[in-house]
Amino acid sequence: MYDRFNRKINYLRISVTDRCNLRCVYCMPEEGVKLLDHKDILTFDEIVQVTKTAVRKGVDKVRLTGGEPLVRKNIVDLVRMIGEIEGIKDYGMTTNGILLDRFANDLAKAGLQRVNISLDTVNAEKYKQITRIGDIQKVFDGIKAAREAGLEPIKINCVIKNNSQEPDAVEVAEFCRKNDLKVRFIKEMDLETGSFSIVEGGFGGDCAHCNRLRLTSDGKIKPCLFSDLGYSVRELGAEKAIGLALQNKPKSGHSNHTSKFYNIGG
Ligand code: SAM
Ligand code: SF4
Repeated sequence: MYDRFNRKINYLRISVTDRCNLRCVYCMPEEGVKLLDHKDILTFDEIVQVTKTAVRKGVDKVRLTGGEPLVRKNIVDLVRMIGEIEGIKDYGMTTNGILLDRFANDLAKAGLQRVNISLDTVNAEKYKQITRIGDIQKVFDGIKAAREAGLEPIKINCVIKNNSQEPDAVEVAEFCRKNDLKVRFIKEMDLETGSFSIVEGGFGGDCAHCNRLRLTSDGKIKPCLFSDLGYSVRELGAEKAIGLALQNKPKSGHSNHTSKFYNIGG
């Protein structure tokens, strides 16, 4: 499917939960967030139905994200259900990696092809500061498990303050080189002020070539991370919600005052 600026839209990012087992300083407040009511969260069947509609309209790349996707109950079942949809060529997940050690094998068996794992530093103390509660060893174990399960290529998402020459970023790059991982540097963004830039080593943040739509865990199709627009699949049906998001996808991002990274999925 094409939007009104003739961009080919073939990528759906699905946020499966607004919950998380970390509290990264740039993403969530320390005390956590007011969680969505259970009844407002799309069921697996609803997510699958929206994904099928999107695939029928031309989506062939799907990524599960969150919050932390691995804290959604029975996530492996959802991974399998989406994996069975014909027409998805690229099927990945973005995770903080904390629970990957436990899930990697089952995810691969359920049809997931690859993972992006978030890691902003290789220093255990700093990791704890950034995530407020995270144990970096769990992420290292998760990376190992993902590799053993064949969830490759594994990409590391590294949030930077200014540029990829800052000390933590240099160390993460070195770690990735040694461990045969691809790294993407994402400059810290601010949804409210609309501050964002192109992801180094990736495709995000480049409005002219944006190919994405997003589905939030409470069922809104969002045409852009930096926009307040969102179309409810429960109110409109998947077909219409996707159509409206496509039709109204802005030429470039501005700002978003209604969502946060943990509920739209980064
Ligand atoms: N919990 C998973 C994780 O951290 O990988 C998936 C969801 S998280 C919202 C997705 C991505 O968004 C992560 O790579 C995270 O680093 C990034 N992110 C979160 N807040 C950000 C911000 N303010 N600026 C840039 N990237 C951000
Ligand atoms: Fe959780 Fe990911 Fe946000 Fe960190 S960036 S708080 S791991 S959702």
